[in-house]
Amino acid sequence: MTTTHGTLHGKAALVTGGSRGIGAATALRLAREGADVAVTYRNGKEAADDVVRAVTALGRRAVALRADSADPAEAAGAVDRAAEALGGLDVLVNNAGVGVLGPLDQLGLSEVDRVLAVNVRGVFLASQTAAARMTGGGRIITIGSCMTQRVPGPGGTLYAMSKSALAGLTKALARELGPRGITANLVHPGPIDTDMNPAAGPYAAAQATMTALGRFGRAEEVAATVAHLATAGYVTGAEFAVDGGHAA
Ligand code: NDP
Repeated sequence: MTTTHGTLHGKAALVTGGSRGIGAATALRLAREGADVAVTYRNGKEAADDVVRAVTALGRRAVALRADSADPAEAAGAVDRAAEALGGLDVLVNNAGVGVLGPLDQLGLSEVDRVLAVNVRGVFLASQTAAARMTGGGRIITIGSCMTQRVPGPGGTLYAMSKSALAGLTKALARELGPRGITANLVHPGPIDTDMNPAAGPYAAAQATMTALGRFGRAEEVAATVAHLATAGYVTGAEFAVDGGHAA
């Protein structure tokens, strides 16, 4: 039964990369469900402040934290800062990510390091720090990619590799943290209309064609699944495609 306060009333959530796109939509959706919300950003302070204002307008507490997920101290530190600002942490959404596509022979070491630092190491460190903070159970929800299920063409080696690491992490987190009532799940968006992958971009039509529904998804459609996982009790170690049938 839901209450007028929402199913996440009294819970504290951190959404990494919550200033734009899927992260911003997720922060707002969790707030609508009743959660207080912290978001991290790297450059976009104004956009992050807009999210804080929107969450506050819903009657929830919100804080924006500048933290580069590529920096190990900042990736872990953001979790501590969020928990301190909100008085605890119940939900971590590992959303911050970078998409670097390109031919194998043109992906340099600095790009490999940056993608793995944000998409993999940052997720590990945030999850590790969050697990230490989640004393009364918790929810760890990570944003992967449809490219872990199906790589529809060339250029995806680095990005698909980085996102595929999250499947192993999620299953292992589920096993290790299950006894403490902490669940870990992974959401794989298909093509979603954001700054990273605009529905009006040069490769958009081809991506839409690869889905069963023949269209891009909206950030809110991913956020709805994240919100479900934030409230679900008996779901852990699982992967969910929100991809319009990209993997079908
Ligand atoms: P956007 O590029 O639209 O937004 C990215 C968000 O992450 C911004 O808030 C950005 O902050 C933040 N961010 C980026 N790098 C860092 C960093 N190093 N440290 C902290 N924050 C950072 O991305 P999307 O919303 O499209 O993507 C969100 C997630 O979904 C990513 O993990 C992506 O890989 C995944 N995904 C997206 C798909 C899509 O089609 N859009 C498809 C499949 C997966 P700032 O504003 O400061 O730059």
